[in-house]
Amino acid sequence: MFLINVNFAIKIMAGFLFNRIVFGPVKSRRLGVSLGINLLPIGFKYCTFNCVYCECGWTLHNEIDSEKLHSREDVEKELEIALKQFKEAGKPIDAITFAGNGEPTIHPEFAGIVDDTLALRDLWMPNAKVSVLSNATMLDDTDVFQALLKVDNNILKLDAGTQETFQLINHSLQNTTLQSIVENLIRFEGKLTIQSLFVKGMVNDQEIDNTTPEEVAAWLKHIERIRPTSVMIYPIHRATPGEKLEVTNHKLLLNIAAQVEALGITTQVYE
Ligand code: SF4
Repeated sequence: MFLINVNFAIKIMAGFLFNRIVFGPVKSRRLGVSLGINLLPIGFKYCTFNCVYCECGWTLHNEIDSEKLHSREDVEKELEIALKQFKEAGKPIDAITFAGNGEPTIHPEFAGIVDDTLALRDLWMPNAKVSVLSNATMLDDTDVFQALLKVDNNILKLDAGTQETFQLINHSLQNTTLQSIVENLIRFEGKLTIQSLFVKGMVNDQEIDNTTPEEVAAWLKHIERIRPTSVMIYPIHRATPGEKLEVTNHKLLLNIAAQVEALGITTQVYE
């Protein structure tokens, strides 16, 4: 998660939206000094999920209007300007991270933009790691899948063990199933990091809880099959659109992490 500077984010009722294509750098607890890339429109969010904890607020737009997305050329131009500035100012960047107002892989030119980003990174900031934060709903697209294999940190979301909890927490807007996501994550053959957020509370009079022993056991079975390089575990951190959500106890997160470590998979817990 990022520490957000108000100069490049717009505060909304429960969270914030980025107001630039290239933003930051921001200090990320996991990635260091990170320059962000927002491929989604300025001022509103596009996503294939509607997560109850999303820091960009509720998903109000899931019909993608390509004309509202930034062009590949604009992204390349803005990224080069930013990298050049930091290079010339002698300010190193640890990471270039695709994040922003929704799901980056829904951009129809995502794969080409990743290629441009890797080339610019090699030219201006060769030590920076290129990371993508994604909800893993677009992995049936071969170009997206192959692009994610090229980046340094392929960080993919998995918050639930069962279909019911998956739908309650992530609210897939495209009938994607948890099973299809897990099968696609297995196809990476370990070249990925899993990012999971644990939360409980009430949303629309429905109880949500992915921290129960049963839910964690089901989630662990998926982790065991996916065998990622590492797992990142989080509680909620900022204002969420779901108003009655609780920050999961750190001890409980450590307990979940210990169960992942017992599978021989490196795990970090964030507060
Ligand atoms: S996948 Fe990410 S951007 Fe999309 S709703 Fe969930 S938290 Fe928000």
